[in-house]
Amino acid sequence: MPEKTKLLIIGSGPAGYTAAVYGSRALLEPILLQGIQPGGQLTITTEVENWPGVKEIQGPDLMTNLESHAKSAGTKIINETIIKLNLKKYPFIAMSEGGNQYEAESIILATGAQAKWLGLKSEEKYKGFGVSACATCDGFFFRNEIITVIGGGNTAVEEALFLTNFARKVILIHRRDTLRAEKILQERLFKNPKVEVIWNSQLKEIIGIDNPLSVEGIKIENLLDKKELEISCKGVFIAIGHAPSNELIINQLETHNGGYVVTKPNSTETSIPGVFAAGDITDFKYRQAVTAAGMGCMAALEAEKFLAEKIV
Ligand code: NDP
Repeated sequence: MPEKTKLLIIGSGPAGYTAAVYGSRALLEPILLQGIQPGGQLTITTEVENWPGVKEIQGPDLMTNLESHAKSAGTKIINETIIKLNLKKYPFIAMSEGGNQYEAESIILATGAQAKWLGLKSEEKYKGFGVSACATCDGFFFRNEIITVIGGGNTAVEEALFLTNFARKVILIHRRDTLRAEKILQERLFKNPKVEVIWNSQLKEIIGIDNPLSVEGIKIENLLDKKELEISCKGVFIAIGHAPSNELIINQLETHNGGYVVTKPNSTETSIPGVFAAGDITDFKYRQAVTAAGMGCMAALEAEKFLAEKIV
C-alpha cells in the first residue's frame, strides 16, 4: 500500500528543507525524500560565508542545521532516493529505490543540479583544496593569487569576471577559439585587464602538493599543435556547465535551457498543476543556497494554496 501524503518533497538541499519547514508549519505533514546525496551540493563545499545571518559555517553543518530544523518542524525525513515518478496520474505516485511507494496530492521537486566535472584523477584529488566549481563559494580564498577557469559558456565567463574581484590574474582556458557565452559577457571579459584567455586548449592535469593538499598549477594542451604548457595558479575553477538533476521528470514536465524545469513567471508552478519546482532544478541563473531556500518557501506556500483550492 502506498504511503499517502498531502505534500511530497523530493530533494534535501536548501530548497527542499526550506519547503519542508514551511510545509510543516502549514500543517501539511510533508514527507521529504533526501535522495542520493543528503544535503545536496553544499555538503561538498567547505566554508559557506554568504548564508545571511551566519558569518561562516561549514557547508555540511549548514545542511545538518537545515535538516534538523525541518525535522523539528514536523517533516518526516526519509533517507531514500525516488527513482520513479508518475505525474500523469493524480494523486501522483513516487517509487523509491527501496521499493516504497508514495501517493502525493502535491509535489515539490527540489532535486537540484550537479556541476559537471572533467573526470581527471587530479581534479578529484584537489576538489575542495584549490579545485572548485563555484566561484561565489570559493573565490574569496584566492585573494591576490592567479586563478584559472576552464570553460567557455556563460558560467565560465561570469565566474572569471567574478573572480577578478579577488585574483591578481584570471586565466580562462577554452577548448575552442570562440566563446559560447553571451556577447555582452564576452565584451566585459575581453575588456577586463586582469583577464587572459588561452584558446584551443584543454586541461590535462592539475599539479599540486600533498602537505598541505593544495594546487600549484596546471598542465594544458593546445589542441591544434598538441604542445603542452604549465601554468602556475592556486585556484582552478571548472565551469563546463551544470546539469539539472531532472531524470525523474523527463517527458513529464516542460523543460528549457538544457533540461531545467520551466516554472511560471514569479512562481514555482510547473506545467502540471500540483507539481512545483524549487532551487537548482529550475534555476539556471542564480544557483545560490539562499535563492534556492527562497524558492523552497514559495513552493510550499503555493502547494498549500493549491491544496486549499483543489476540488476533491
Ligand atoms: P554551457 O553548456 O553553456 O557551456 C559549457 C562550456 O564548457 C562550453 O563553452 C563548452 O565548450 C565547455 N565544455 C563543456 N564540456 C567541456 C569539456 N569536457 N572540456 C572542456 N570544455 C568543456 O554551460 P553553462 O553552465 O555556461 O551554462 C548553462 C546554461 O545556463 C546556458 O543555457 C547558459 O546560457 C545559462 N546561464 C545563463 C546565465 C545568465 O543568464 N546570466 C549564467 C550562467 C548560465 P564548447 O563551447 O566548446 O561546447
